[in-house]
Amino acid sequence: MIFLFRVHAPFDRLVTLLLLLCLLSCHTVFAKEQLDPEYAQWEASLNAKPGEVLTALDQTLSKAENDPITLAQHHFLYSETYISLTYPDKALNHANLALEVVDPKQHPWLYHKILTAKVVALDYVGQPQTALPLANQVIQWADHSEDQWLLVEAIVARGHLYNALSMSIEALNDFQRAYQMVPEQGGEINKGDIASDIALVYEYRHEDELAIPFFEESAAFHRQENDFLELSIALYGLGRANKNIGKIALGESQLEESARLARKVKDFQGEAYALKELAGIAYKQGDADRAIAMLKTTQHTFNQSNNKFMLLDTSFSLSRIYLAQGELVLAEQHLEQAKTHLDADAMPMQSISVQEQAAKLAARKGQYQQAYELLIDTVEKKQQMLTEASINKLNQFRTQYDLANKEKENALLQKENELQSHMLADHESQGRLTQLLILASVSTSLLLAFIVYRSRKNRIKFQYMAQHDGMTGMNNRSYALKKIKEALDLHHNNSLLLAMVDLDHFKTINDQYGHAVGDEVLIQFSQLCIQHFDDNVILGRFGGEEFLLAMPYGDQHQLRRSLEQLKASMSERIQQSFDFKLKVTFSAGISRCRGVDDLDKAIHRADMAMYQAKTHGRDQIILHREVNQSPQPL
Ligand code: GH3
Ligand code: MG
Ligand code: MG
Repeated sequence: MIFLFRVHAPFDRLVTLLLLLCLLSCHTVFAKEQLDPEYAQWEASLNAKPGEVLTALDQTLSKAENDPITLAQHHFLYSETYISLTYPDKALNHANLALEVVDPKQHPWLYHKILTAKVVALDYVGQPQTALPLANQVIQWADHSEDQWLLVEAIVARGHLYNALSMSIEALNDFQRAYQMVPEQGGEINKGDIASDIALVYEYRHEDELAIPFFEESAAFHRQENDFLELSIALYGLGRANKNIGKIALGESQLEESARLARKVKDFQGEAYALKELAGIAYKQGDADRAIAMLKTTQHTFNQSNNKFMLLDTSFSLSRIYLAQGELVLAEQHLEQAKTHLDADAMPMQSISVQEQAAKLAARKGQYQQAYELLIDTVEKKQQMLTEASINKLNQFRTQYDLANKEKENALLQKENELQSHMLADHESQGRLTQLLILASVSTSLLLAFIVYRSRKNRIKFQYMAQHDGMTGMNNRSYALKKIKEALDLHHNNSLLLAMVDLDHFKTINDQYGHAVGDEVLIQFSQLCIQHFDDNVILGRFGGEEFLLAMPYGDQHQLRRSLEQLKASMSERIQQSFDFKLKVTFSAGISRCRGVDDLDKAIHRADMAMYQAKTHGRDQIILHREVNQSPQPL
């Protein structure tokens, strides 16, 4: 069922027989396998719509349980989906569940495909050493079976493991190899992504000149794909690298674009990272006031997301700028703030920098004795860290040696791994990336850049999912309500207009033309609404074919006119979208909401007016007149 065989060479009957024997004994040298079509389709849409895939998996799990190979694919897809949503513990758990039901001898391709998912999950839970022998196992098998795609996947996964183990040369080798193997277009892994992996390793090695062409390639790729988040991330790397090699103006414009794009996709932390770099440039160019203003903006953002590492960094930068300007009181205030974000055990390097700054400040205040003592202490601490760093390096070499040995005992190790993984699966995944982020700032065995980039991608995906309806891309009910409440607060609890819009006889559309057509109507209608109303109007999918909108300005008649225009555009749009005749209309009710406390009641009033429109024959818009408390057609 999951094996689609493709045989290339011409052959006679004997060869056919040999081949069949070969296949029967499950040597799959000639085989190119794929997942079942349904699972392959989900895998392909995973990046864009992980939430939808998760729902689909939940809904079909009981059906999948009838057949072990279907079940294995089901758990495999769960694992990939949870990686996408940054739940590495769950991802690991499902990879293990999938492996339990697959016999590696009977279904070697599927087994190794799942093993690759397990490698990725182990990497995410911070167990790269455990994952390494498994990655090697997959690479060996895929190489032997000439399965290019699985080989690329496993090599990229191993590259990330090497990164986490601070083995940057090995990581580069793997990424470069994968980069050569991947075609320009097509496939789940693309050249643009691998290019950014390569660039990040160079960045980590402070080889900015080498990183630049790869960041450029990654940016060009994502620009072409209109993937603004990825483009913003690539431009952030590119801008920093150009800044570091002295191409300040170019770097500045790239960082500005990165900040703009991050804002556009609502990745506010991403925007703050770019602003932080831009503040550095402004300061170097002598514009301290602008630098300070930017740093205060980033501080606000990092405060909201409780990003301690960046909060420390920002307060520290502010303290340094104020000290240089002779603003001693402000310099001290920000240094004190920096200290509150400092975890001396986890961040020894930052702790030394903070102490050095305190020494400088004391000296500027004329407290020379105190400055001297602080400095002596930092020198000692630095010495101690240097010793620790060499010990770490030694440990690292020993680990690598151990690994080489362990690979020889692969079979035994795998059993241990399974056991460990099960234990790991119990751990909570919440906050793991933040934890890694803080550790990475001091640890020699983790790559800060990778974690920043990775968590940025996953966080934004997760946040977007939690706030939007997967099918139409519109705000979901709870997010729309949150935005409406915020708008009411912003306008000092002023009033705004609400409209409840419900498509007419939608059930009949589904019944007559099928659910897929119904879905398309909802998508078209949502897109039309997004285009029709300006950015100040809050739109949300309230239920199946029911939409709520809130307009913070204008009067009821203005909103009614706008909805009338929407109606006209809608029939035009529907005609363009389908190659058969389809009539779609909607009914709407309008009410006024007078502050947050009135919101529930106002929604109810809009609902009542909408139902009135239904009973009056549909395809119309009715105002809820509050004076006589009875809805009236207009
Ligand atoms: P009325 O004019 O009174 O609103 O009639 P109606 O048929 O639109 O209303 P009803 O509430 O009876 O049915 C709504 C239908 O919308 C039923 C449900 O199957 C369908 N629906 C809800 N969500 C979706 C969806 O996401 N996709 C599709 N295709 N249909 C959906
Ligand atoms: Mg309806
Ligand atoms: Mg309805």
